[in-house]
Order: sequence, then structure tokens, then C-alpha cells
Amino acid sequence: MSSSNDIRATFLDYFRRNGHEVVESSPLVPRNDPTLMFANSGMVQFKNVFTGQEKRGYQRATTAQKCVRAGGKHNDLDNVGYTARHHTFFEMLGNFSFGDYFKEQAIEHAWTLLTRDFGLPKDKLLVTVYSEDEEAPVYWKKVAGLPDSRIIRISTSDNFWRMGDTGPCGPCSEIFYDHGDHIPGGPPGSPEEDGDRFIEIWNLVFMQYEEGPPGTRVPLPRPSIDTGMGLERFAAILQGKHDNYDTDTLRALILASAEATGQEPDGQWKTSHRVVADHLRAGTFLMADGVLPSNEGRGYVLRRILRRAMRHAHMMGAREPLLHRLVPALTRQMGAAYPEILRAEALVVETLRLEETRFRSLLERGLGLLAEESGKLGDKGTLPGDVAFKLYDTYGFPLDLTQDALRGEGKSVDTKGFAAAMTEQKQRARAAWAGSGEAATETQWFDLKEKLGATEFLGYSTESAEGSI
Ligand code: ATP
Ligand code: MG
Ligand code: MG
Ligand code: MG
Repeated sequence: MSSSNDIRATFLDYFRRNGHEVVESSPLVPRNDPTLMFANSGMVQFKNVFTGQEKRGYQRATTAQKCVRAGGKHNDLDNVGYTARHHTFFEMLGNFSFGDYFKEQAIEHAWTLLTRDFGLPKDKLLVTVYSEDEEAPVYWKKVAGLPDSRIIRISTSDNFWRMGDTGPCGPCSEIFYDHGDHIPGGPPGSPEEDGDRFIEIWNLVFMQYEEGPPGTRVPLPRPSIDTGMGLERFAAILQGKHDNYDTDTLRALILASAEATGQEPDGQWKTSHRVVADHLRAGTFLMADGVLPSNEGRGYVLRRILRRAMRHAHMMGAREPLLHRLVPALTRQMGAAYPEILRAEALVVETLRLEETRFRSLLERGLGLLAEESGKLGDKGTLPGDVAFKLYDTYGFPLDLTQDALRGEGKSVDTKGFAAAMTEQKQRARAAWAGSGEAATETQWFDLKEKLGATEFLGYSTESAEGSI
């Protein structure tokens, strides 16, 4: 069986042998892009290379990139524990050509690596192409011998990539693996595509245009390639599993969670173990890259992730801080590939322990209030916004934690009411300050806080021009 560590190494080595520079993952906090919360794809660190603003000493690169998708345009937080294929933190393996090789060779590399080096059966693979891209289907037939029935034309934005409102863009072609007809779900483009039978493993982006003001698009003189493959999804296939959470790395974390809580890994707490495993990984990697829990911006996204995991640990019966005890299981699995988590281990353990200690008593009381209020609602009811706000304000329950808790009962939160309660509280606070006759500096302080406070919601709603494939 190939371990995740072997698969990563084999991938990078294939592209190294084919003239690519092996480049380290960039940190999760993007250095050059304030509009992007976290690195969420392999191309992020190369954005300026693709646009030509920056030159590197190579024209081909390959990476295993740390990615977090828990906010902004790509938010997979709510998928965790519910689909077989989504994580908040995952590794994206990729190969990049900066004006060097293009479509045909990118397809050739992907196909060779998958079917020859990794030995995947050809008849389990199918691909999508953008409906207006006439070249990609030709190459798929030529290189892979795929019949038309396995080259699916998609006309939505899923198969057309853009770096932002303007700039490089182009069609994509995605490779899917069919896990078999015993799993519900239909092929991409069909009404049942949301199932987990056909799993997208690799996205090949063909950057071939430069977009200007709306409606203007010119061909790039030297088109580029950007690809991304999810290591966990690929490992599932190679390890004979359907589900990412059954692969070596995540399974080790689930077993650690099972041992620490005394709850069966695959019993009634299966989802909770998955959430704990995933969020522990995201939390550890974020802290190792310098993000600490806080009430704003990136730190608040981290806090939200950790608190969700803490609620699940609590549900499984943990009455003492739990997450920090699982860190060694993670460093054992991933410390060799990412030494930063070894270096940060002590800090991560201590931060988790403190964060969970502080949240525990609030959590218990907040869950009591939530149970009481939820009991007053009928089936599939909606929790009033002011209750969700009280949970947020008094008990430190991020909105999404309350939503996650209610989701299991088929209930939801009145989010408009929540936002209104939040605004009202800010106005009250402002009025109280104004009434106290304090100097103008305080008013300024509130203006500033309001402005900064907005970042708290980045994780829910900001639609920024995020570069990701
Ligand atoms: P999906 O449609 O399954 O959500 P995506 O189209 O959003 O995936 P891309 O942006 O194309 O994903 O990213 C490239 C690859 O990264 C995907 O083909 C997949 O293998 C992997 N990937 C994307 N999101 C996740 C995630 N949340 N967890 C694990 N792997 C992921
Ligand atoms: Mg997605
Ligand atoms: Mg997709
Ligand atoms: Mg995709």
C-alpha cells in the first residue's frame, strides 16, 4: 500500500524527472495577497509569475501545497464530516508551466503519471472539458484514447478558471475517478453529480487568455499551466478506500480521537471523530504558520474551527481538554514532510490546551441554553437571531458553531436576525460611550473597531478575487 508520504514523494519526483523545479509549499498565510485569507491552491504562491510581474529561475515547477478552505470563495467547512472528499486543510499536489509547455503536454503528464506510474485502471477514469474548448477533447482522445462518452463537456464556470475579475484565465479539464456503482452519485454534469461516486481528483487549468474590461479577452502569447490534485482523494484511491477519512493520515488521527474519548471510531460518533481529526490538522498547521486564535480575521477563522472541534469532543463525552492530546499523532504522520509542525509542537499543544480550557465552561452552559431554546422550536424550526447572538456574545459560540449544532436536528438560525442583533449591540455600545462624555478619541476607537470588526465576518461572506483553481 502506498502511504500518503510515498504518494507525495512519487508525484514530486515524477515532475522533477520531467524538468520541474521542486518548490516548497508556501505558508498558509499568503505573503503577497491581502485579499486572500489562506492559501487555497497551489498557484497562489505563483500568481505574480503567471502574470509576468515576477521572474523565477525556472519555467516549470511542482509543489505539494498546504491549503485551507474555510472561508471566502472556497469554504468547505460545512462539508467536513459529511462528504467523503472535503477537508478544511488538505494538500494540493501540482505541476506548473510558466509559458513553457501547454495543453497537450499537461494532459500527457497527468495521464502518464496516473496510469503508468501509479497504475490506475484506465476504465475507472473520466474527464471533463470546457464546452468551448475544442482542443482538450482532441488531446484526451489522442493521448489517453478516451471515448467521447468519457469526455464530458461542461459549460459552467466550474470548467472555466479566472484569477480575478481581470487577468489570466482559461478553460479547465478535470479528471474524475469512478468509485463504483455501489456508491450513490452520478457523473459530473449530471443531476446526481453531488454524490460521492465520481470523485474529482485533478484539475488541469489551461491559462490561455488575458481578460481586460468585461467582454474583452485576448490570447496570451505564452500560455501557462496550473494543476491541482488533492493528495487525500488520490491516496484514498491508491489505498483501496472510497473515503478520504479512511486513508492512513486521517485514520491515525481518528484512532487517536477514539482512544482519547473512549468512543468507537466507526460507531455513532463517526462524524464527530472526522470533524475532530480534520479540524485538529487545520488548527495545527495554521498555528505553525503563525495564526493564533483571536476574535478577528484569520485568528477568528482558526478559533471557529477549533471551537467546532471542541463541541464535537464534548459531545463524545470529553470533560477535560482533548485536542492537545492528539497533536503527537499528527506530528508522527506529517512531521517529516512538514517540519514546521514539529518546531511548533509545544506552542500548538499549549495554545490548544488553553483555548479549550477557556471555552469549556462557556461551552457547557451555552449548550444548555441552546438545548433549551431548541426544544421550544418545532421540527425543522429556526432559532431566533437574538438567541444565536446571545450564544455568540455571552458564550463565545461562533454563528457557524450554532448552525452546525442545529443542523443535526434539521434546524437552522435566523441569520438576518443575528446580524440585526449584532448591529443593535454596536449601536448601544456607541450610544453609551457618547453619553459618557468621553473624549472624541473613544468615538474614533469605535469607528476603528467597527471597521476592523468587519473582518470577523470575512470567514462567512467575503467574496474576494481569490486566486485558486
Ligand atoms: P470539489 O468540486 O470536489 O469541491 P473543487 O473543484 O472545489 O473540488 P479545485 O479548486 O479544482 O477543487 O481544487 C483542485 C483539487 O484539490 C480538486 O480536484 C481536489 O482533488 C482537491 N480539493 C479541493 N477541495 C478540497 C477539499 N476541501 N478537501 C480535499 N481536497 C480538495
Ligand atoms: Mg470545492
Ligand atoms: Mg469541482
Ligand atoms: Mg475543481
